[in-house]
Amino acid sequence: MEANCENAGIVPQSGFVINRSMKGNENLTPVSALGEFGLIERLSGKFAINPEKTIRGIGDDAAVLQNSGEKKRLLSTDILIEGVHFDLSFIPMQHLGYKAIVANLSDICAMNAVPDAVTVSIAMSNRFSVEAIESLYDGIALACKKYGVDLVGGDTSSSVSGLVISVTASGLATEKEIVYRDGAGTNDLVCVTGDLGAAFAGLKILQREKTVFMNNPDIQPELDGYEYVIERNMKPEARTETIDLFRESKIVPGSMIDISDGLASELHHLCRGSKTGAVIYEEKIPMDAQTKEVAAEFNLPAMTLALHGGEDYELLFTVGLEDFNKVNHLSGIHIIGHMTDPGEGVRLMTRSGGLVEIASSGWDHFREVE
Ligand code: ADP
Ligand code: MG
Repeated sequence: MEANCENAGIVPQSGFVINRSMKGNENLTPVSALGEFGLIERLSGKFAINPEKTIRGIGDDAAVLQNSGEKKRLLSTDILIEGVHFDLSFIPMQHLGYKAIVANLSDICAMNAVPDAVTVSIAMSNRFSVEAIESLYDGIALACKKYGVDLVGGDTSSSVSGLVISVTASGLATEKEIVYRDGAGTNDLVCVTGDLGAAFAGLKILQREKTVFMNNPDIQPELDGYEYVIERNMKPEARTETIDLFRESKIVPGSMIDISDGLASELHHLCRGSKTGAVIYEEKIPMDAQTKEVAAEFNLPAMTLALHGGEDYELLFTVGLEDFNKVNHLSGIHIIGHMTDPGEGVRLMTRSGGLVEIASSGWDHFREVE
């Protein structure tokens, strides 16, 4: 068959192609050389968006689509893989379902939009019973009810290894309400919701207790006193109430992102998107006492958990200095620093008064796994 415009570059192959583009061939680039974000950038270069259909494509927490009405539609998707994103030896199916929905709604919130619907696709190996999958869906249903979103479809498949869950979330907002990662300016205030590092602290405890249990199944997990951090890991919430607060207080942040990979990585995303630097203050970064206790138990600086732990699903955003009074009195919102000129980098003012560069390292699937 001759190549035409539509299939140019995709020509019939003779013979099997297995392994031709797999690892082990030294002429090829391992994915770890690019990392997750480098790979996304390379792949996204192949796609241009049509402005008649799409307002914003790849590169933010959600895409923004044209809509004939006043409100634009936002779309975001995430995939969760057993053994990579979750460990079923300690997260119950119901919690997993809840968390899968929340993680996606959080991306819609990060655009200052109101989520309205989700689709859920699952693939499972034959190790899973109907009852187990029903439990997963009980958690999904609970989250849908709590956040007022409809489950409107999905897909179901078998899998050769474990459980895969993919959720797509949709939301609505007017063009004026939508907040991207690229709208911050020098001197804007940097703010976060809630407290940071708790979900990672919870994970550390769960992993430790799993190891103890594996070594001696007669010993039951010791989880007393760790309730808050474990709850933050197993049953996170999306900050829809912050989006409501913004509407009530007539605040439209200049830029925003949700904290799924850690404050450091997300702040770098905002700075890169907005072409700014930033300074944040160690003493202003909100952390729960239990998170700090867990950090001490593991001999980790508490700040490491706040900066580099993931899955908090809090919101990181910027507002202009003129909004200081508006955000300063809002409960659950903390001003932690300000944006600077881009040349100044992304830095932390420590309690002792030193300025240190913040590495962007958050969770990168390929760099961490390799
Ligand atoms: P988030 O952490 O907010 O879910 P990601 O870091 O996963 O965002 O993704 C960053 C951006 O890259 C998003 O706009 C996302 O839609 C896009 N993206 C991620 N993976 C792919 C892919 N395989 N193909 C196209 N776009 C992708
Ligand atoms: Mg996000």
